[in-house]
Amino acid sequence: MGSVTRKPLIAGNWKMNLDHLQAVAFVQKLHWTLKDAGHENDSVEVAVFPPFTDIRTVQTLIDADKIPFALGAQDLSTKDSGAYTGEVSGAFLAKLDARYVIIGHSERREYHGESDDVVAAKVQAALRHGLVPVICVGETAEDLEKFGASAVPAGQLKTALEGVASDADIVVAYEPVWAIGSGQAATPDQAQEVCAKLRAVVAESLGADAAEKTRVLYGGSVKSGNIASFMREPDVDGALVGGASLVVDEFAAIIRYQKHVGV
Ligand code: PEP
Repeated sequence: MGSVTRKPLIAGNWKMNLDHLQAVAFVQKLHWTLKDAGHENDSVEVAVFPPFTDIRTVQTLIDADKIPFALGAQDLSTKDSGAYTGEVSGAFLAKLDARYVIIGHSERREYHGESDDVVAAKVQAALRHGLVPVICVGETAEDLEKFGASAVPAGQLKTALEGVASDADIVVAYEPVWAIGSGQAATPDQAQEVCAKLRAVVAESLGADAAEKTRVLYGGSVKSGNIASFMREPDVDGALVGGASLVVDEFAAIIRYQKHVGV
């Protein structure tokens, strides 16, 4: 399977960082930095995932200045509306022109007890509202030792895809938990092996066409210095970036991986 038909996606998960004023400054500066560097908007899709409180502001800026970044949220409710204090509905996110929503990030699984079934319900909620779920899966260090790299993420993805239509637009992100925020990224070979396995799970669950078109990202301590080595792998179609997505020059260099390493 080649990655020629899949447009690379570089996604920045800001987590609980940047308030709405900082978000405006960040998005403007990133846009200018990429423009100054002559970055071609068509070569790579860029998406930012601000906190909920920034989404309206970032959406207004992107619209007003015609900034070619996609907007995403970091989570959503399994429900569409009602008495669910503190929750945010996919319907509201869709109204703000969010295109993507991260689902099943390891921090949600760990700190909020999100099970595979909750993740699956959130995938359904996203798809009900025309949002593209970025389904995060990955093994802990303990899982890696016990079961190897792909068994746990493959099982998580299988559950997340239950009941998903074969033509649904989804993104998968392989994020080994031990690599997130640790400075110790997976090797490109490890990332390729698991991303290929995840693509096979998409094929089993949704069919060969879905597997061919679905983008599978790698995430976990991605930096400007290692992004190109991941992007050379045939089953890695982009990156979900945490810490490095908060530093304009570093995130811009990641987006421009083709230029600085000549992939
Ligand atoms: C993440 O949290 O999704 C992530 C990949 O973080 P980092 O890039 O900081 O490892």
